[in-house]
Amino acid sequence: MGTLFSPNNPSTQFHATDFFPHEPDLFLHTPRGKRIPVHATILASASPILENMVTSNRIVKINGVPYDAVTAFLRFLYTSRCSEEDMENYGLHLLVLSHVYSVIRLKQMCVVGLSQRATTDNVVDVLQLAKLCDAPDLYLKCVKLITNNFKAVEETEGWKFLQNNDPWLEFDILRFINEHKSRKKRAKRQREEQKLYVQLSEAMECLEHICTEGCTNVAPYDVKKQRKRPCSKFSTCEGLQVLIRHFATCKRNLKGGCLRCKRMWQLFRLHSSICLHQDSCKVPLCRQIQLKIIEKENKELGDARWKVLVSKVASAKAMSSLTLPKRKQDEEIGPYKTN
Ligand SMILES: [Zn+2]
Ligand SMILES: [Zn+2]
Ligand SMILES: [Zn+2]
Repeated sequence: MGTLFSPNNPSTQFHATDFFPHEPDLFLHTPRGKRIPVHATILASASPILENMVTSNRIVKINGVPYDAVTAFLRFLYTSRCSEEDMENYGLHLLVLSHVYSVIRLKQMCVVGLSQRATTDNVVDVLQLAKLCDAPDLYLKCVKLITNNFKAVEETEGWKFLQNNDPWLEFDILRFINEHKSRKKRAKRQREEQKLYVQLSEAMECLEHICTEGCTNVAPYDVKKQRKRPCSKFSTCEGLQVLIRHFATCKRNLKGGCLRCKRMWQLFRLHSSICLHQDSCKVPLCRQIQLKIIEKENKELGDARWKVLVSKVASAKAMSSLTLPKRKQDEEIGPYKTN
């Protein structure tokens, strides 16, 4: 905030003739009764409100802001420029003046200048003025700043004042913070879900590749040589091969409640649900699962969540096939072996 009337401070003195060579023809009345000689034409051309005052009764008064802010305002009216120093010291007052007197250009400059200068300490003041002066961009900037630094803002005098004097505004801000939090949570959950679908889609691709081309430890019987070197998605293939080998040899198996077998079974089932070439597919149980279990489940109206999962993985897989070359498909049907 600016200092109050300071007639001895030369930087806040205003002489209209420094900017316009003609004799001033009007007095601008400022707080504390000080009058500043000004030019009616300059004021009238800069602001429709001042124009109205000048033409109707030739009395122009600006009250409610410090004298120095009035001179900063006049400097803008005469030069169409606002120094960094004036913005720094009188930005809030200039916002009010530019709003009240409809000086659009200055208002835009204040919105930008105050946005850049808003801190946790002054943001509540800026926000309140932004609301009063109908500056939605500045208001939104302030709400975001408060949202991101709420702990610090909560401790300021400005926030305490707001709580006591404008509970509706407080409510509005708190609601925004809450919505922002739940938006963030929702986005995080969606990102995690999408990550899971992509992982499952990659597992599906690796499963087909292992059962068709073979990878380092598991390959179909009709593939003579197993791959010696890890493939491009080996981190997924490796775990999958361990799981397949376990599934083939586990004694407890599904009925015995083996969790690893259950996981493998789910992957087979998921594969079967999205497999597009079951007649030639070499993934174990693909056709059987498709025919017996899925059909039966569909008849029983199935599990909606499972269907959603299937369609999401299928679309994630479709997306990845647009960007990656499809692995070579083996036409022959054969059993698979594990080493
Ligand atoms: Zn592999
Ligand atoms: Zn098992
Ligand atoms: Zn299949």
